[in-house]
Amino acid sequence: MGATGKGYLNKKLLRIQVGFLLTEGPGNSREIPFIFPRRVQVEDDLYLDSLTGNLVLTRTKEGILVQGTLRFSHTRECDRCLEEFQGCANVELAELFAYPPDAIKSVFSVDSKGEIDLAPLLREEVLIEDSYRAVCRDDCRGLSAETGFNLNDEIEAQAEADLEADHGGAIDPRLAVLRTLLK
Ligand SMILES: [Zn+2]
Repeated sequence: MGATGKGYLNKKLLRIQVGFLLTEGPGNSREIPFIFPRRVQVEDDLYLDSLTGNLVLTRTKEGILVQGTLRFSHTRECDRCLEEFQGCANVELAELFAYPPDAIKSVFSVDSKGEIDLAPLLREEVLIEDSYRAVCRDDCRGLSAETGFNLNDEIEAQAEADLEADHGGAIDPRLAVLRTLLK
């Protein structure tokens, strides 16, 4: 894909320069489109396969207010069948980045370069979202309590066998023997 050879977009892209908004003064806002249709690093331990949406940054007296909904996708493990699947979810952001930094007003702040780093906030929100139950599909049957096999596979195999039987294509070999005996 890219010329970076790394196969993902660096988390530095989640830093936004807000110096212009600080100068414009309270009440001013700007919409920032977030369109990462490919793998992006959020933190060393978290990568997303896509991240899209719009954020509105508003200059307030306390700093920069970040609001908006971002949709992300990444590989997850199904809670029921333990197979990997592509999970999609939304995170709603509404967070103040204090300026000047003020631990009482917010754990997040605008740094000395006039930038806000969305990565730690995003990581927090994605982990909360991921802590909810994840299933590969609503009707996932999970693993068999007796055999530990994936019941989805068994159901599919059964469905295929039923389909063949319906079409009369394959005669059960045992029935075939019976037929010859009857002759
Ligand atoms: Zn599953």
